[in-house]
Amino acid sequence: MKKILVTGGAGFLGSHLCEKLLARGHDVLCVDNFFTGGKQNIAHLAGTPYFELMRHDITFPLFVEVEQIYNLACPASPVHYQFDPVQTTKTSVHGAINMLGLAKRVKARILQASTSEVYGDPEVHPQQEDYVGHVNPIGPRSCYDEGKRCAETLFFDYHRQHRVDIKVARIFNTYGPNMHPNDGRVVSNFIVQALHGEDITIYGDGTQSRSFCYVDDLIDGLILLMESADGFTGPINLGNPHEISIAALAEKIIALTGSKSKLSYKPALTDDPKQRQPDIALARSRLGWQPHTELDDGLRETIAYFRRRLA
Ligand code: NAD
Ligand code: UDP
Repeated sequence: MKKILVTGGAGFLGSHLCEKLLARGHDVLCVDNFFTGGKQNIAHLAGTPYFELMRHDITFPLFVEVEQIYNLACPASPVHYQFDPVQTTKTSVHGAINMLGLAKRVKARILQASTSEVYGDPEVHPQQEDYVGHVNPIGPRSCYDEGKRCAETLFFDYHRQHRVDIKVARIFNTYGPNMHPNDGRVVSNFIVQALHGEDITIYGDGTQSRSFCYVDDLIDGLILLMESADGFTGPINLGNPHEISIAALAEKIIALTGSKSKLSYKPALTDDPKQRQPDIALARSRLGWQPHTELDDGLRETIAYFRRRLA
């Protein structure tokens, strides 16, 4: 049994991670400021003896004794990270400094939930870890993209300068149960619109692509990375290489929900990446990891969750 801190533990990914770590017999401290996460995601864990919840904003220092830290705290949906962009950058940068300082003091291993957004609007396809990215430093997505890039810089500098034991995961679009109905990301938006029989809003012409990973697969990858060999730092892509256009995703969700919703095309978003697909050769070889859930199966699970939640 390890004492493990999960920042952002009440969010979409964090809640699944807390649950899986508890199931593996660990002692889990979940820290969250509830900006986008919610107690409903972790309420079912509250009675378990080795689960502890702390309301805290990681832009402020934290003094706890733990052996591993998963640093997930940060709004991930463009709608939410652009709501208070200064706070988003602070969460990524000050939050990373605080969590790395904690890891240094207590000699904990620390994993950063980085993102495919460090590649920006990529000029190489699929994206490999050695691609340094194509990112606008001054646009509406920059608070998140550059914040996450700076966090990676801090992780590697703490590693080189202070010998902190780091692991950096670059997570690609992930979906599944526990997403908030107002999360604002594409899968939850489309499913909620389809279940309400409302128009499905597509930004741009719908030819832009993403590659969607089911949450259970992603969480397995994060834990394998945390448990990987000493000295293996990443960065490492974690995602599902199955790529799909946003218009095709909308059609698929209409079909799977049996909805009568129509597609409604809106102006494209500023700096919206046109394509995104992870190259996961490194994850396959170093972690023996690859996703197993087909998009249709993962969407069925997610639709069932939203049906329950909206009822
Ligand atoms: P989410 O918004 O559901 O969860 C983020 C959690 O962090 C929320 O519970 C929120 O309240 C909390 N939080 C935000 N700012 C905080 C702060 N200053 N202090 C303490 N808690 C704070 O998002 P998610 O999808 O679960 O993403 C989790 C992490 O994974 C994020 O760091 C995100 O950047 C990264 N990520 C996610 C995806 C994805 O597709 N889900 C893709 C790439 C990277
Ligand atoms: N998108 C869309 N309609 C929505 C939400 C998103 O067409 O209601 C598009 C968005 O423009 C982008 C893609 O879906 O091209 C993925 O958006 P999301 O916010 O889920 O994630 P990210 O852009 O960060 O990958």
